[in-house]
Amino acid sequence: MNQNNNNTNTNNPLPGGIILDAIKDKNAIIMATNIRFIPGIAKGILQAAKDTDTPVMIEIARSECNLEGGYIGHTPKTFAENIINAAKETKNTKWALHADHIGIKYGTKEEIEETKKLIKAQIDAGFTSFAIDASHIFNFNGKTVIEELEGNIKATKEIADYIKNECDKYGLKNFGLEVEVGEIGRKDNNGFIVTSVTESVTYIKELNKLNVYPHTLAISNGSTHGNIYTNGNISNQISIDIPQTKKIAEALKSEGFNTRIAQHGITGTPLKFIKSLFPKGDILKGNVGTHWQNILFEILEKNETELYNKIHNWVLEKYADKEKTNEEIFGKNAKFALKEFFEELQNIDEKTINILEEKAYNDAVMFFKAFGCLGTGSYINTN
Ligand SMILES: [Zn+2]
Repeated sequence: MNQNNNNTNTNNPLPGGIILDAIKDKNAIIMATNIRFIPGIAKGILQAAKDTDTPVMIEIARSECNLEGGYIGHTPKTFAENIINAAKETKNTKWALHADHIGIKYGTKEEIEETKKLIKAQIDAGFTSFAIDASHIFNFNGKTVIEELEGNIKATKEIADYIKNECDKYGLKNFGLEVEVGEIGRKDNNGFIVTSVTESVTYIKELNKLNVYPHTLAISNGSTHGNIYTNGNISNQISIDIPQTKKIAEALKSEGFNTRIAQHGITGTPLKFIKSLFPKGDILKGNVGTHWQNILFEILEKNETELYNKIHNWVLEKYADKEKTNEEIFGKNAKFALKEFFEELQNIDEKTINILEEKAYNDAVMFFKAFGCLGTGSYINTN
């Protein structure tokens, strides 16, 4: 059991809420990095954060890491242990460990109970921040917005209360809490289905009435998870609806809610675009996931060619699709190789790990600059 969050002399993760509250009105976005492959990358990011005094979140989603191992082959316990070790090595004290997309798709009793088991394991392992994602539960026959969102609100409330109770057992106050309305990346014939202002305000208002006060709200605003492709070639992510995001953030603020936006699916967004167009402070948390996995495969291709070729062939064979280019098949499915080649990936050359670490370090600093959070560690009061 790792929960030991009141002791700031350790390198254990801080309660997520401490970081989010501290940066909330500082015109900055906290970077939440979802690294599916740990060696080199975790240490590089945490070292960059330490050296530049920048708070950072390390996160992992339910599909990736769960009691059965998820598609990266880690349980919450083994994942947390590895990340906490990297924090110790880098002496980083201003970071949080976030459970991304705790997905609840139907809200059935059975699913809620399974979800609680996962959350218990995450809290026992040392996670200090949680994203409840019940956005999939949507009543298309609802006559009002509240009716449409009722299932999402109910599941979110039940899970939020469970998190609070479990955290209380460890004396963990101000854990980070993220909730979601509008499924990210969902499209219809007219393109992305973007979350509305009314949906966002109603959702948070109803949760507040039930004593659930999220730090951040994830919305569907035109981004997609992972790499994106146009005509089979990798392309930039520039479909994020910035004006709509600002409108929602402003509406939440004008209602007096303490909830800001969590931006998902940032991989592929040009740094210049993030720097100049992302509304810092309206967006408080920015998730960068697949980027780190892209780094892994770029570096493996050059430095561990034999293993890279094995992985490449496995992905192309297993996920063969005549309609798609090899680049797209690999870019979208390589994540599933992480578990298949777990042992071999854990045993890559020390030299390769150092290259990964250096690249992760440099890229983290570039993201911190674009997010406007570089050096904001001084706002965090750890006493
Ligand atoms: Zn996401």
